[in-house]
Amino acid sequence: MFDYLIVGAGFAGSVLAERLAAGAGKRVIVVDRRPHIAGNAYDHYDDAGVLVHKYGPHIFHTNSREVFEYLSRFTAWRPYEHRVLASVDGQLLPIPINLDTVNRLYGLGLTALELEQFFAARAEKVEPVRTSEDVIVSRVGRELYGKFFRNYTRKQWGLDPAELDASVTARVPVRCNRDDRYFDDTYQAMPKHGYTRLFERMLAHPNIKVMLNTDYRDIAGEIGYREMIYTGPVDEFFDHRHGKLPYRSLRFHHETYDHAVYQPAPVVNYPNQHLYTRVTEFKYLTGQEHAKTSVVYEYPCDEGDPYYPVPRPENAELYRRYKALADATPGVHFAGRLATYRYYNMDQVVAQALTLYARLCRRSVDVAPR
Ligand code: FAD
Ligand code: UDP
Repeated sequence: MFDYLIVGAGFAGSVLAERLAAGAGKRVIVVDRRPHIAGNAYDHYDDAGVLVHKYGPHIFHTNSREVFEYLSRFTAWRPYEHRVLASVDGQLLPIPINLDTVNRLYGLGLTALELEQFFAARAEKVEPVRTSEDVIVSRVGRELYGKFFRNYTRKQWGLDPAELDASVTARVPVRCNRDDRYFDDTYQAMPKHGYTRLFERMLAHPNIKVMLNTDYRDIAGEIGYREMIYTGPVDEFFDHRHGKLPYRSLRFHHETYDHAVYQPAPVVNYPNQHLYTRVTEFKYLTGQEHAKTSVVYEYPCDEGDPYYPVPRPENAELYRRYKALADATPGVHFAGRLATYRYYNMDQVVAQALTLYARLCRRSVDVAPR
């Protein structure tokens, strides 16, 4: 008899398994239909011996000390600040757009103050800022929006930025200084021995049993458990009763090259060329030294594993109907990016899981006999 059946061994499921087992003494079974733990953060050594991320580049960054300290129980870190170049008009330019991006794109020598005026002269007044187009056009104007954002977004989402919530392109800041880091967060680092090792340590508790290659539906009737934590797609849980919730997928094309370096930055974005959005060279992320190098190309698509919830009003409305079903399902708790239909980074999923754990603990205190 288990206290919890946890569906999914990604960050949401594994953090909850660890907390419930090690923090609350519960007996937990974690099932995942994939042949490995770590969900989309899974990494492994490829045939050439290069550490790669199977589901695209995963860079850890957070402003939450609690999340960073919690994960630090299971891994040492390698300091790493992520940098990205975008291929635009025949040049490789820093993205987020910054002072160097504009000066190099237009052959100018602007100062930070002059760049602020440059943007102000081109920015279009948009009131209120609702869409992903509004965010960029109201900050830097239509030309830079067209060069860096419109086509990348169309390719990534199969939608025009005007059809997506502001929150999508708002993930990428615009800067007037020369800071070319992709993220601003206080804590930026990679797990020193990879994500999978971190998950192995998180799940290595005698109260946790892990079953891979197993859909929970195949075993839910066979094992005893009191409650379920579900981290898969929420619409699938309810057999798509209200229709399919859109999730965007990707096809990952992995390549290994017989030389040490492939490109001049960890990630190169291709807003206006190719069917792929970006190319990631893993050795930059991991710090591994190797005579060969491995990269991944990301081709966005509609069909395939669900990776991204698609933030737009009609999807939020459909999700609300599934959320109502979820709230009315006793004994099942929904957590993670797919089950709560949120475009969350890893740290946000960890924070959400820790919050759910705290709620489950409070509840068991509330109902405990006095
Ligand atoms: P998942 O990792 O998706 O885990 C859910 C698990 O549930 C899966 O393993 C799935 O197989 C399993 N499952 C589903 N249904 C069933 C079922 N019926 N039975 C059994 N098992 C089931 N975040 C960052 O912070 N930084 C980044 O740089 C970053 N880059 C990303 C790049 C890409 C291409 C993608 C797609 C995401 C990226 N993320 C990044 C986001 C990050 O992947 C997620 O925030 C995080 O992995 C979500 O964890 P999760 O546990 O919610 O879901
Ligand atoms: N984006 C863009 N051009 C870029 C980088 C990002 O248009 O060069 C937009 C695009 O819509 C993308 C979103 O900003 O989906 C968020 O980018 P991020 O790099 O955070 O995407 P993720 O790593 O989650 O795929």
